[in-house]
Amino acid sequence: MRVHADRGRCMAAGHCAVTVPGVFDHGEDGLVVVTDEKPGDDFLEEVQLAVDLCPSRALSISQD
Ligand code: SF4
Repeated sequence: MRVHADRGRCMAAGHCAVTVPGVFDHGEDGLVVVTDEKPGDDFLEEVQLAVDLCPSRALSISQD
């Protein structure tokens, strides 16, 4: 699993860093930063929840 975040779409709502603090954080500008681009598969359920909760559809997962 690889985690992608489009900072151009992010509106700094903050849900992702609350949902999966081990994978998402915020930069000084408040926009999302992916701190672990290849988390283990045990994170899949939580990361998928963060993807689903993101109000700006800025997050995605790929299998590579
Ligand atoms: S949930 Fe979406 S909009 Fe909010 S900080 Fe994360 S990526 Fe940005």
